Amino acid sequence: MVFESLADRLQNAFSNLRGKGKLNEKDVKEAMREVKLALLEADVNYKVVKDFVKTVTDRAIGEDVLKSLTPGQQVIKIVNEELTNLMGKTQSKIEYASQSPTILMMAGLQGAGKTTTCGKLGHLLKKAGKRPLLVACDIYRPAAIKQLQVVGEKLDLPVFTMGDKVSPVDIAKASIEHAKKYNNDLVILDTAGRLHIDETLMAELIDIKAAVDPKEILLVLDAMTGQDAVNVAEHFNTQLEINGVILTKLDGDTRGGAALSVRSVTGKPIKFVGMGEKLTDLEEFYPDRMASRILGMGDVLSLIEKAQENFDEEKAKKLEGKMKNMTFDLEDFLDQLEQLQNMGPLSDILGMLPGMNNKAMKGLEVNDKDLVRTKAIIQSMTPGERQNPDIINASRKKRIAKGCGMEVFEVNKLLKQFEQSKKMMKQFGQMEKKMKKGGGGF
Ligand code: GDP
Repeated sequence: MVFESLADRLQNAFSNLRGKGKLNEKDVKEAMREVKLALLEADVNYKVVKDFVKTVTDRAIGEDVLKSLTPGQQVIKIVNEELTNLMGKTQSKIEYASQSPTILMMAGLQGAGKTTTCGKLGHLLKKAGKRPLLVACDIYRPAAIKQLQVVGEKLDLPVFTMGDKVSPVDIAKASIEHAKKYNNDLVILDTAGRLHIDETLMAELIDIKAAVDPKEILLVLDAMTGQDAVNVAEHFNTQLEINGVILTKLDGDTRGGAALSVRSVTGKPIKFVGMGEKLTDLEEFYPDRMASRILGMGDVLSLIEKAQENFDEEKAKKLEGKMKNMTFDLEDFLDQLEQLQNMGPLSDILGMLPGMNNKAMKGLEVNDKDLVRTKAIIQSMTPGERQNPDIINASRKKRIAKGCGMEVFEVNKLLKQFEQSKKMMKQFGQMEKKMKKGGGGF
């Protein structure tokens, strides 16, 4: 789950507020002290934290929040809005050049995930209808060229190389001619990185920029490095004037500092986030969705998009419909479990559901191994039982358990899980209705 401990701490800070019918300034300030500590612990830049807490406190005390009927929820709503603002308000897309090809120059330190991300980005944009060419401009790191070629081959993307004896500037220039000739409308330059920022590296990047005038320079940053990533971003931005950031390794045990500080410190938006080692694990970055995930309010839009990517159209529609009108049964549950396996680790997916904070997740005890067992249990049921789990009495449970070589308590556990998922979807449905009425209501 993204930013697990930050999410936990923030949600704890708000649990007190949520329960109270009336709030006073002291309650708000206390909660904000918790928020401040949570953000600092997540390695968010100190100044960013200070400004953030001040803005939220001023708004919470200043507006008619405390007098409202649901003050706790209003304060959380303000935190949600300000977290969204912190990360750039709205999604920042890639800008394309008016004349083909659009040149994207990728920069970053070694190990940040640059080469991998070149492939991931090429793949994502190819799906959006572009014809990308990957270009190997890193002539220093042993095997960097080979690595890009392997990535290109896996993704069926062309890779332009000139070996390691030609200067990166000349490679970049030649690649553009190549792209024009072969009708590639997007050129992605994989440039060299170093373990630390150094002037030779920067000079080379400045030369490449001057030679090919890229439409965008995207800085690849490792989210795991927290504040360091933000310092790197500041430096690259001063020297190169980047257009945006791609934050990698958000799937790991990342505290959140980089994601929450980078926009505010550099003024440059996060455009994409790397969510895993697989070459399909790159997502567009939406500040509002990330804020809701951090606050445990779920990210149903991303969930549905992920579903649409992995399910066929008809099944995705079915899922959306069933989630909305609560008519799914164990048959659908099984169907979805099978599709879910294609969508990545279960905890990530469930983390996108509203109300699914870590505590709730632990309560459900879901992991990917359970998935296989769960499937076996459902497969051991009759179609009638799958459609109407209420008929599953004690003797049926025994038969089902026997059929899949498991114990009755495991069948019970599954039925309970199913009920809980249904309940959660119901909550989501109600929440959506409230939001539509303008109650703002989570
Ligand atoms: P470069 O030196 O910047 O070109 O970095 P690489 O592309 O070689 O990546 C370094 C390591 O980070 C590789 O093992 C990648 O698989 C890994 N990596 C890149 N992006 C992600 C990500 O989003 N999540 C995870 N978990 N690993 C990533």
